[in-house]
Order: sequence, then structure tokens, then C-alpha cells
Amino acid sequence: MSKKKIIVIGAGFAGIKATKTLSKKLKNEAEITLIDKHSYHTMMTQLHEVAAGRVPFTNAQYDLHKLFAHRQNVQILTDEVIGLDKENKKVTTKASGVLDFDYVIVAIGGEPNDFGVPGVKENAFTLWSMADALKIKRHLETVVEKASLEHDDDKRKALLNFVVAGSGFTGIEMVGELIDWRQVVARDYKLDASDITLNVVEMMPTILNTLDRSDADKVVKYLSKKNVNLLLNHAITEVATDHIKIKDGADIPTHTLIWTTGVQGNTQATAYGLAESERGHRLTANAYMEAQGFEGQGIYVAGDVSGFIEEATGRPTPQIVEAAEQTAHTASENIIADMTGGDKHKFVGKYQGTMVSVGSKWGVASLMGKLHLSGFFAMLVKHLIYILYTLQIGSLWYFFTYLKNEFFHTPNDRNLFRGHTSRLGNVLWSVPLRIFYGFVWLTEASTKWVGDGKLLNPSTWFGKGSWFTNDLHFPFAWLKETATTAADAAAGASTEAATQAADATAAASGAASSGAAEATKSAAEFGLSYSYGHEPLAVLDKVPNWLEPIFKFMIPNKEVALFMQKFMSIVEVALALALIVGAFTWLAAAATAALTVMFSLSGMFYWVNIWFIFAAIALMNGSGRAFGLDKWIQPWLQKHFFGWWYGKSKSLYK
Ligand SMILES: Cc1cc2nc3c(=O)[nH]c(=O)nc-3n(C[C@H](O)[C@H](O)[C@H](O)COP(=O)(O)OP(=O)(O)OC[C@H]3O[C@@H](n4cnc5c(N)ncnc54)[C@H](O)[C@@H]3O)c2cc1C
Repeated sequence: MSKKKIIVIGAGFAGIKATKTLSKKLKNEAEITLIDKHSYHTMMTQLHEVAAGRVPFTNAQYDLHKLFAHRQNVQILTDEVIGLDKENKKVTTKASGVLDFDYVIVAIGGEPNDFGVPGVKENAFTLWSMADALKIKRHLETVVEKASLEHDDDKRKALLNFVVAGSGFTGIEMVGELIDWRQVVARDYKLDASDITLNVVEMMPTILNTLDRSDADKVVKYLSKKNVNLLLNHAITEVATDHIKIKDGADIPTHTLIWTTGVQGNTQATAYGLAESERGHRLTANAYMEAQGFEGQGIYVAGDVSGFIEEATGRPTPQIVEAAEQTAHTASENIIADMTGGDKHKFVGKYQGTMVSVGSKWGVASLMGKLHLSGFFAMLVKHLIYILYTLQIGSLWYFFTYLKNEFFHTPNDRNLFRGHTSRLGNVLWSVPLRIFYGFVWLTEASTKWVGDGKLLNPSTWFGKGSWFTNDLHFPFAWLKETATTAADAAAGASTEAATQAADATAAASGAASSGAAEATKSAAEFGLSYSYGHEPLAVLDKVPNWLEPIFKFMIPNKEVALFMQKFMSIVEVALALALIVGAFTWLAAAATAALTVMFSLSGMFYWVNIWFIFAAIALMNGSGRAFGLDKWIQPWLQKHFFGWWYGKSKSLYK
């Protein structure tokens, strides 16, 4: 059977979801082509962070090739779809010509709606693409720099007056980022932060009108605490380069108007000749997400561009991520059902909640309409949702990129933990610790190797106490039992006299040794440093009950124990050398921390050495990159390993 050709137009939240679903369930039955204008998926929900310079733009660009590197049945094409021939089942692209399809999903998203207000197109900034976000970012820098050199007070005030039009999610999230940004630019350009004015202009009497009132009120309070002016009942009638006009009100001087008043379907879809709603340009769909007028012909729509009227609300599906993914799920499941003869699915929107961040540290969240959070916990939930998203699309790469850019590499304290997780210091200062710690492990390991032998004389290596002899060093009770049982069996054939003699010797030596022990015994006591005559206290004196079965499973008898002893001694030397030369330092340090924890749980480690764990954690800071081999190993690995795993990322996929 020849493979069906499926084209997904648009690699937004809807397009990614559809492509993932189709490629997973139609491994051998279909060839899927995902076409997008860009070589990456734009994390629209983070554009305000890019615009206000909180995160690098790469944080919001998920390379498509990386997302689909191991999907054999997915082709990525960077191109713009400019036409759709429904009858002959072909899409026309700008650069790659015409492509045939059996099924198509149109998921080209939305665009800002200017509601016909004069001057918006020419003079306002929109926030609906990466290009938009970067344009705002550049403008913000330029205008502040200009203001810092402006002598005329009025002109300077206008340059430092920033206006966000619209108080929906996008507008409030944008102004929230500007609150944090204001402090940073004021410092950088030697301005007074209070000279930078932030405004939200809203034509309605309230803000965040799709939110619960109690949540919205918390945002109002927070904005006023942060000196953001809320200009309510203000309808903008015209936008010029240096001011905006307000209906029945005075002009507002500004050089920066960020327009976030509403979204409509992508007007490019008009060229596809599908039925669309008059207001909002949304492509009309039935409950199966089939384009109206082309039911049963393999033409589906999904995401912000689609406009299925939901029974529950009588309104089109909301233009949010959840709706984008759910409409895409319906469309792709119905394509699968059509191909495999299964039952078709009707779309039913299930929305779990809303979250609005106001800057990097504060936000509100409403979960399932029941749980209302604000501040730290609301932001924590929002981060968790993002992290889950990276896992849901199966991308460990972007999971780590997200963590890095949102928590660990965020300059100017602009993260949820107020910079505590991202204090960047010079790893040079930890190089002495790395080398010292490496030598500590080397000493520890060499004691295990040599015992009371002599390291400098190989013929006497492995003296008494060496882990390379057949002496058992693990203090586990069950190993002693097996060793004793074996000895008992061997001794079974010996004479009674011999036994008695042995008993007598044992008793004598026992008495002698206990006497000696008595003589030298001092009480083990807790302490994080030694003082003469004190015995260090073991972290645990024996393996805890819950762990014993696991250890018993891993080290069931003396043979395995002896092997493990030798193996661990070798591993310790390897870790020590890795730390000293700074090779794979993160892994080596993490492994030493894990070993220390394991030794502690085995009853083989003392409180006095507990600093091993904390030194190891401190050394996971990239210390191998300063005067260490990691300076070369890590970039080499990144280039070759990730190149092999993901292929090469490109600006255009043809
Ligand atoms: C700043 C901001 C914050 C937001 N915050 C939230 C939030 O917190 N929660 C939430 O649920 N929603 C939020 N949204 C809305 C959310 O981002 C959208 O609902 C979602 O992106 C819609 O997904 P989509 O796949 O339909 O479209 P999009 O994500 O817009 O993707 C459309 C894709 O189609 C491509 N494309 C367009 N035209 C063509 C063409 N002709 N040929 C080929 N490719 C084309 C585009 O390049 C794009 O990749 C936010 C939006 C913004 C801008």
C-alpha cells in the first residue's frame, strides 16, 4: 500500500501537536511534511520575555529538526504556503513549488487585530512573532539611549513613556516584563527608574476581562504597587510616531506603543479559499475540525486560525495553547481514523486553567476554576507547565535550555528565585578545590589499593588491608554470615581436639583483643572535626532496614563483594584523576557525591568527612572549564555528539 501524504501547515503549538501525533501513530502508513515559514517553532508564550530582554531569543525558538530528528516519517520544510488547491489536493509554496497531499491540516495561527485604528500598522509595535519581539527589544534599547542624551525635559519624558495598549494576557504579561526591565535600563543608562513611566491603556473599565475578578483585582493591586498607570475607559483613536490620541481625552506623548488589543485568524488564510468568519478571520470548522464545505475531503484546520463554535459557550474556541493543541489532536486523530477505519472524534474543549505572569517573579493562576494562586506559587505552576510542555514534545534539549535560561543563567536577578539560582561567578575560584578534592579521593583510593603495603615498591603492593586482597571490607552482616557458614562447612571434618584447640585460641585471642580494645577504646562522638583522642562517629552504624534488601540484591555474597571492592577502588582512582585534570568534572563530582551518600548509608563513612558531599556539589559548577580539560572536551562533545544525535540545525530546511 502506498503511503499517504499528509501536510501540516504551520509549526506552532497546533502544528507540533498534530505532527507528533500523526508520526507516532502512522509510522509506516504516512509521510508527513511539516511546513513553516521558520526553521523553528516559536514559543509565542515567551515572546514578552524576549522583547524585554529577560531571556535570549533562542529560549523561545525550538528548532524543528531537533524536535523531529528521530521521526523517520516526518519531513521539515521551511517555506511559506501561499495557496491551497482543495479539488486537486495541492499546496503552493513560495519557494519550493507545489506539493501533493491526501490530507492537510491548516494551522497557521493568528495575528494581531488593529481594529482599523489609524496609525497602528505604521507606528505601533505588535507582539505576535519572533521578529516582533526582537524589534521591540531593539527599539527599547534605542529609545532609552536616546532619552539618556536628551536635554529637553518634555522630549525626554515622552521617550521614557511606554504604553501597552490592551489589558488581555499578552498586554499584562508585556507590561509585567517592562517592570523588571525598567530597573535594569535605569541602572545601565544612569537614569532614575521613576523617570521611566509604564502605562496600560484599556478601553474597558476593567482589565484581564477573561479572568476571575478576584484574580484580576490582585493584578490591579500588584501593578499599582509597581507604579504602572492603568488608564481605563481610554479608547485609542489614532497612533502617531510620538503620541497617541485618546477618545474624549488628552493625547499621550510616547514613542513606544505596544499593541496587544486582540487577535484574529491569520489573514493569509484568506488566500486558501476556505470559509471564514466575518469578524476575526477564523476558518470555520465542524466538530471534527474539518474545514466547512470540504467535509470528508481531508482538509482540516486547527489552532488559533480555526474557529469551531463550542456548544458550551456558543463562542469560537479560545485562542490559547490548550485549544490549539486540543483542536490539533482532534484533527490528527480524525485523519488517523479516516485512514485506518476507526471512529471519528468530536472536539470538546477541556481547559485546565489560566496563568498570567507579571514579570519574572509574580503572577496569578487559576487551576480548573477552583484553585487560585498568586505570587511565587502561581509562577512556579507556570514554570512547571512549560517544563511539562518540553517533556510532552519529547525534547530533553529544550527541557535543559528552559531550565538554563529561566533559572540558572538569568542576568539581573530576573527569575522566580530572584537571582539566587543564577549568580554567575568565576569558576576559577573553585579550581583549587577541584584539584585538592581530586587528591583527597586519590589518597583515599590509594589507601584502599595498597593497605599497609608500599606504593613505591610494586612487589609489596596490596599489603594487609588492601581492597585487592581477598579480605572482606564491606561491613555487611549477611556477608559475614556466608563467610562463617563456608568456614564451618570446611571445618566439619576436623577433629574435636583441633576444634577445642581452636576454641581455646579463639577465646584467648578474643580476650586479648577485647582487652586491647578496652585499653584503647574511646567513645565515638559526633563532630565535624577531629580532636586528639576522639573517635569520629559513623554517619550510620549499619545499613538501614529499608535499604538492606537492595544492597543484598546488589552484593549477595563474598565473591561479588570482593569484585565490588576492587571495582570501586578503580572507580575512585578514575574519579580522582578526572577531578584533578578537570575532565568530565560535572559527572565526576556528581559521582563522588553519590558514592559518599552510598558509603554513608553502608555504615562506612564518618561525619567528619561529610564535607565531601558539599564540595562535590560545589564542583558541579563547570570548574573543569578553567585550567581543566573540559574546556576542550565539552565543546567537542557538544559539537560531535549532538551533531550525531540531532543532525545539524539550519536556518532553512529544504
Ligand atoms: C506574548 C504572548 C503570550 C501568550 N501567552 C499565552 C499564555 O500564557 N497561555 C496561552 O494559552 N496562550 C498564550 N498566548 C497565545 C498562544 O501563544 C497562541 O494561542 C498559540 O500560539 C496558538 O498556536 P497555533 O499553533 O494556532 O499558532 P502559532 O503558535 O501562532 O503558530 C502558527 C505557525 O504558523 C506559521 N505560519 C504562519 N503562516 C504561515 C504560512 N503561510 N506558511 C507556513 N507557515 C506559516 C508561523 O510561522 C507559526 O509558526 C500568548 C501569545 C503571545 C503572543
